[in-house]
Amino acid sequence: TDVVLEVRDLAKTYPVRRGVVVKREVATVRAVDGVSLTLRRGRTLGLVGESGSGKSTLAKMLVGIEKPSRGEILVDGVDVTDLGRADRRRLRGTIQMVFQDPYTSLNPRMSVGEIVGEAFAIHPGAVPPGGRDKAVHELLDRVGLNPDHVSRYPHQFSGGQRQRIGIARALAVSPRILICDEPVSALDVSIQGQVINLLEELQDDLGLSYLFIAHDLSVVRHIADEVAVMYLGRLVETGQDAEVYDHASHPYTRALMSAVPVPDPTRRDRPEIVLEGDMPSPSKPPSGCHFHTRCWLAPTLADAVTDETRPDGARVPSVCRHDSPKLAPQESPDHLAACHFASDAARR
Ligand code: SF4
Ligand code: MG
Repeated sequence: TDVVLEVRDLAKTYPVRRGVVVKREVATVRAVDGVSLTLRRGRTLGLVGESGSGKSTLAKMLVGIEKPSRGEILVDGVDVTDLGRADRRRLRGTIQMVFQDPYTSLNPRMSVGEIVGEAFAIHPGAVPPGGRDKAVHELLDRVGLNPDHVSRYPHQFSGGQRQRIGIARALAVSPRILICDEPVSALDVSIQGQVINLLEELQDDLGLSYLFIAHDLSVVRHIADEVAVMYLGRLVETGQDAEVYDHASHPYTRALMSAVPVPDPTRRDRPEIVLEGDMPSPSKPPSGCHFHTRCWLAPTLADAVTDETRPDGARVPSVCRHDSPKLAPQESPDHLAACHFASDAARR
């Protein structure tokens, strides 16, 4: 099998405590609520959702920064969920993270050579035969930076160059999986493409697998082979990129798609869908389908007499307010969507 990373029913809950003298637990935040994913060798899975959807918490569990409350993480079929510290350190060699903000994720008091070389100190076995300095030199060259700038400090580089430093640091221990947490969100649009092109080149050369996290479908479109859309801690749609982009079957995905500029003029006839309101708090997710308070489709399907009123006054099908929809196959069996009315959503 070519599956390198498998996530099964992963969940993370946090207690919310309040009180001046005695802190009482007043609520539970379900940041990630039963997510299952597979990542294949040499492929990119794009994970998309608004901020607060739980995608960063998911990423932190994968690299061992957060401990899952439930579920399993398998790397090459081996369960690494409950690894101790030493084993986790070894695992970190396999899974590395590229952080969102290249301005805060690099230590300003360390030179580029120290930042990239530090990985070898943390993972002693990773120092290649030619020695550390040579390896750092090669890494900087590989990510398109001038190796002669090895003694410069982060502030002497542009945002895009700093993200290249972050990528070089991640590559130092020869990982097989990179978790890229919104790696281009903090960069100018003109620079974003260059960093994405670099990631694609590295993937082709090194056979890396990426979990590429973004809040914007258009960023993921270029790089992802498969797409997963997350809302309030749960996956609402997953599939091959073409399936998800051409036959989006969850009303939330359709709304996110509406914000993507359409390259094909024959498809301009689709009405624009505006996503109303903010994401509800993950400590108080709506009943039934988590998306029902913002869904544009549900009000068009409701029977005005028998169905129910949601907080904004719109009538929606009772099933949307009471039954949580499961991910279910669409026209192709590996394209899944979690909506009671997915076929209606795909047709609109
Ligand atoms: Fe909208 Fe109902 Fe589908 Fe949820 S199940 S996305 S509320 S139509
Ligand atoms: Mg690709």
